[in-house]
Amino acid sequence: MKYEQINKVKEMLEQDIKSIFDIKELNDLKVKYLGKKGLISELNQLIRDIPNEDRKDFGQAVNEVRSFFNDFYDTKKQQFEEETLNKKLESEAIDISLPAAKVTQGAPSILEKLIEEVEEVCMAMGYDVVDGPEIEEDKYNFEMLNIPKGHPARDAQDTFYVEGEELLLRSQTSPVQVRTMLEGKGVTPIRMICPGKTYRRDDDDATHSHQFMQIEGLLVDKNISLSDLKGTIDIIVKKLFGEDIETRFRPSYYQFTEPSVEVDISCFNCKGKGCSICKKTGWITVAGAGVVHPNVLRMSGYDPKEWSGFAFGFGAERLAMLKYDINDLRVFYNTDLRESKIFDREESL
Ligand SMILES: [Zn+2]
Repeated sequence: MKYEQINKVKEMLEQDIKSIFDIKELNDLKVKYLGKKGLISELNQLIRDIPNEDRKDFGQAVNEVRSFFNDFYDTKKQQFEEETLNKKLESEAIDISLPAAKVTQGAPSILEKLIEEVEEVCMAMGYDVVDGPEIEEDKYNFEMLNIPKGHPARDAQDTFYVEGEELLLRSQTSPVQVRTMLEGKGVTPIRMICPGKTYRRDDDDATHSHQFMQIEGLLVDKNISLSDLKGTIDIIVKKLFGEDIETRFRPSYYQFTEPSVEVDISCFNCKGKGCSICKKTGWITVAGAGVVHPNVLRMSGYDPKEWSGFAFGFGAERLAMLKYDINDLRVFYNTDLRESKIFDREESL
């Protein structure tokens, strides 16, 4: 009678295990048979009604069903786990036949490229490329360039002061000339250019920026005249804009040069006929320059009776805008890769 019960449970179990297809069904099955009120657990309750001499056999019979269940459970569980793992591996597999993700490549900044070009042509003429601090002392930025305190020439350069009236963000790269001359100690000839950032209080728009790059050059030697300056400028602009470009000087005024000139080049676009780039004049202003003022030489330790020199300053952005036909200064300082790529491509055409 009691054994019949065991056989019934066993038959039911054999039937049930045919329809177990996932881990949830397997666990439900475990509850059904081995849970607190599970069918196999309940068989154990029957043992109380079994005579003592038969209890051992009965217990063994129940244990056989339990073992049968456990074997099934362990095997099936392992099988399900392997299947899950395989599915996961399959879904995470790398398909090496798929096209690779594209790597976005940058391009050199147009401004940097232009500066490198000027550096190259100047280095070929024996110039050193020199660097200097962007936070500068008033004496290097102004005083030693013949612009004493209170001089009206300072008004033209709306300066950012950092601390009191002695430290400032350099308003021009010319202080690097002073520093280089001081290092030359009045005895070493100098050929240097300094490309670098300068700062002036200005509203940012398409043609103005509080920060801009100057490329400044200085030559100090014996018997240097304005015609040496003209020859040098000529070489630089021909390299940048083409061999047929002409240069002309117009008188100007700077505190640190005497005489001072503004440098015009013949319009590379209309070849002098007049267009929108040259404002119908046939000429484009590209630099300020001049023969180094005797006071500047003297203050930096060079005797003007013995030494002479010239200095020039290009606006790097202006050169790049002309060369690459850019009409908005802000292009140089945004980080849109597409723009530098466009110019990069045009360059290589
Ligand atoms: Zn023109």
